[in-house]
Amino acid sequence: MLAFVLLCVCFSGYSQIKQSDFQVPDVNFVNLDSTAKGVLYQEITKNPEAVIQETCLKVCRVLYRDVKEIPNVERINYTVRDYDGVSAKGGVPPVIDISFSSKYLAGNFKETEKDSAQALSEIVGVLSHELTHAYQWDDGGRYGEIGGVIEGIADAVRTMLGYKDYNTKKPGGSYKDAYTTSAFFFVWIERNIHPGFIYELNQSMLPDDGITWTWDQVRQITGTDVDELWTRYQKNMHLDTINTDKVTS
Ligand SMILES: [Zn+2]
Repeated sequence: MLAFVLLCVCFSGYSQIKQSDFQVPDVNFVNLDSTAKGVLYQEITKNPEAVIQETCLKVCRVLYRDVKEIPNVERINYTVRDYDGVSAKGGVPPVIDISFSSKYLAGNFKETEKDSAQALSEIVGVLSHELTHAYQWDDGGRYGEIGGVIEGIADAVRTMLGYKDYNTKKPGGSYKDAYTTSAFFFVWIERNIHPGFIYELNQSMLPDDGITWTWDQVRQITGTDVDELWTRYQKNMHLDTINTDKVTS
């Protein structure tokens, strides 16, 4: 197997869910792009089914502490095809559909001067975001109202797994901005204020707890109001950087 470089990020925010206890979903991998772009995906990932299954476990180790808590994802239909966009997730457990754009991959590969390790890191990074959507709670189908925090958690998991560079965070924006801006804030809370925050934030979105999710959940988890935390984060974020060691695996 071709060795590839990963950023090894040492966080405490992982559980020790054992591989042997984890219900690995079946993966139905389909590559609809037979041109060079589709072939590139195959060449970079080598064994896409295994990459997807391994990433499921990694994502669940950030989101959950016990296998009993994990939603029952039995099957992932993963499709590579040529379209404008990056990636998208559809479906709900037990069957999840994920698409990934070969066009996006080819563009990314060109931009990084054909760096295969970087391309694999991008594929797995995007995958970890979409697989978070497969496994995370959404307060009972409330994406329309609270999509910002849901997207923030997906990018926070990606960051926790080392596929998004936390050290690039910059002041500005709002914790409601979703994606990167929310994600780095959540990871900062996890690392500086309340270890286990991302786990508890996801748990606060359980569909059957009788509580409608609001940003006040952040105060209930950490003991501090979200606006106060955001102010502190804006002031102090530069003090928290992650030492990354390049390791070959
Ligand atoms: Zn998303």
